[in-house]
Amino acid sequence: MMASKPLETFQADAPLVAVRDVKKTYFTRQASIQAIGSASLDIGRGEFVSLLGPSGCGKSTLLMMIAGLEQPTTGTISLDGSEVLKPRNDIGIIFQDATLLPWKSALENVLFPIRILKRPVAQYREKARELLNMVGLSDFENKKPGELSGGMRQRVAICRALIHDPDILLMDEPFSALDAITRDQMNVALSEILETYRKTVVFVTHSIREAAFLSDRVVVMGGRPSSILLDMKMPFPRPRRFEIAETPEFAQVCRRLRLTIEEGHAAPSRQVAAPFKVIE
Ligand code: ADP
Ligand code: MG
Repeated sequence: MMASKPLETFQADAPLVAVRDVKKTYFTRQASIQAIGSASLDIGRGEFVSLLGPSGCGKSTLLMMIAGLEQPTTGTISLDGSEVLKPRNDIGIIFQDATLLPWKSALENVLFPIRILKRPVAQYREKARELLNMVGLSDFENKKPGELSGGMRQRVAICRALIHDPDILLMDEPFSALDAITRDQMNVALSEILETYRKTVVFVTHSIREAAFLSDRVVVMGGRPSSILLDMKMPFPRPRRFEIAETPEFAQVCRRLRLTIEEGHAAPSRQVAAPFKVIE
């Protein structure tokens, strides 16, 4: 007799994102570039996972493949059990640059995905205002991007990514262009937003501190060809406030992450010295 699990339990256990033996090589006219040597990774529903590593280790490539905007050369990526073969509507993406439409107000920018998805905009206006309120921009809904600071524009981009209530939020170095103080504030703001709107998040960064502060798990990528060097749980309780970043435990976690990145960088098979900068 076969002992089978009830279906519900099975689904609850299944990862939302499953990356299986993925390799990615880009073929250009001049050369083939191995962006990812191998990667396997599970991300559970509601988890916040950071991809951390030096420039060029394939973090953005992995994110784009999860979004269905690039395809693995070999291996598979599944979302909620089905293979990702084309771009998906049920994700929200945030890039380093807020990429807002300059001629539209903050509110209209937040509502833009609703227009693209051809959903009834009027029904989402209240939600858009609620999101802007959540990020402290209630008084700015009629301002154009040019009238907002960099941090404010990125807050609008976060609201825009959340307006259609996607399961997954993909963020590619969203705060890298901001000054250090604004960046710390954005990290706290993002944690607070996610306490209200629980999402599964894949967050790309090369900042060790940012990854440690925000994440449930930090996945370190590196080496040549690049692979996953470490997958580490962050042992800090939530809700998190910035004070945790000053504890010895936090420093110890950051040290472990930094050493892993350095070891990956020093891998003997390395052929080209990659520009290597880690912000702590
Ligand atoms: P990261 O985000 O970690 O900096 P990327 O995923 O952007 O790394 O890039 C990994 C490698 O793949 C780099 O060597 C990069 O130059 C190369 N690469 C990325 N995108 C493309 C592309 N569209 N065509 C060719 N090579 C690419
Ligand atoms: Mg990148």
